[in-house]
Amino acid sequence: MGLVVQKYGGTSVKDAQRVNNVAARIVEAYDAGNNVVVAVSAQGDTTDDLIEKAKEINENASKREMDMLLATGEQISIALLAMAIEKLGRPVVSLTVWQAGFMCDTNYSAARINKINTQRIQNELDRRRIVIVAGFQGINKYDDITTLGRGGSDTSAVALAAALGADICEIYTDVDGVYTADPRFVKNAKKLDDISYDEMLELASLGANVLHNRSVEMAKKYHVKLAVKSSLTREEGTYVKEVDQVEKMLVRGVTRDNDCARVALCGVEDTPGKAYTIFSLLSKKNIGVDLIIQSIGRSGKKDISFTVAEGDLPAVLQILDDNRDTIKADEIVSTTEVSKVSIVGAGMVNNAGVATTMFEALYNAHININMIATSEIKISVLVDRKDAERAVVAIHDKFMLD
Ligand code: ASP
Ligand code: MG
Repeated sequence: MGLVVQKYGGTSVKDAQRVNNVAARIVEAYDAGNNVVVAVSAQGDTTDDLIEKAKEINENASKREMDMLLATGEQISIALLAMAIEKLGRPVVSLTVWQAGFMCDTNYSAARINKINTQRIQNELDRRRIVIVAGFQGINKYDDITTLGRGGSDTSAVALAAALGADICEIYTDVDGVYTADPRFVKNAKKLDDISYDEMLELASLGANVLHNRSVEMAKKYHVKLAVKSSLTREEGTYVKEVDQVEKMLVRGVTRDNDCARVALCGVEDTPGKAYTIFSLLSKKNIGVDLIIQSIGRSGKKDISFTVAEGDLPAVLQILDDNRDTIKADEIVSTTEVSKVSIVGAGMVNNAGVATTMFEALYNAHININMIATSEIKISVLVDRKDAERAVVAIHDKFMLD
């Protein structure tokens, strides 16, 4: 008998009709002879609405209480979905993560799963029940409820698949797979049949909003075969697998990430230890820095610029200001009017022409590049935000149509 883990996102269960639709799909997999474990997200915009509710009461609520609140969204979903399956006459049980044995660390609002004690789930499966587990939630060693971070239900599903040794983990969402670019503004974007873990991980981290990047990390580590599918159609979807099992493509996808801001420290002394001083101040406050460039020194001075998540910008500027006597920059300037545009593809390793082709596409579209970063399987450029969508289209056309 096969074991299938399925995950349904918020849009897939947003109202009664959608819940019934999902219940029917689950029953289909069950009737085909599989054991079925499902992780489900909060309905529609529930999580955002709960955050709004919290803000009305306390803008600075503790992460512990926020987790207590946000975890309720998923508890609503599991009960409703189980009721819908009951109505279809199949044996089913809904479980919170407490009952399902999800042991997490104590990082409230961004908890990591350490272990799943699968005994209860296993017992339910042995009785041929369909098991519906609350996504996104965790339990820590203080018996507190935590959450895994926004979009974390994907990770709940992959963790279940890994712990239970599932044959496949199907992630159901409102798009029918992973595309070569965002189909909302790239008309000729194509759905991918498959993609490697590393490529998917890069795409997820670079702004393709299909999978929680930690879920991909975990799938790779535990060799969980993932499928991204639509809950509304019967399309095949995209499979995420080991790199030697996927078709090689020079460029698998083009992404845009608007969640960035650039900070430039102009006229910093050109002496050893400057970069260390600046970036250790930021890392001490847990601020992640992405792209970095430093100019060649001239008359004893240099410029250092870097990007951070847009939401971190106020904190960064505060830190730099608090330490202006140590940093001693002539000027500090920042902007949020930038975006990171990236190409990803395992086939670009050792292919020197890929960067040139990307830059040529931007040149032809008269788009200026502010910063560049490369790794084995990706190249990112920072461009003005107003140019970002055009940049994606130009690069996508160049690689996919040529
Ligand atoms: N409901 C949570 C969120 O909206 C978790 C999830 O959807 O995966 O972030
Ligand atoms: Mg959600």
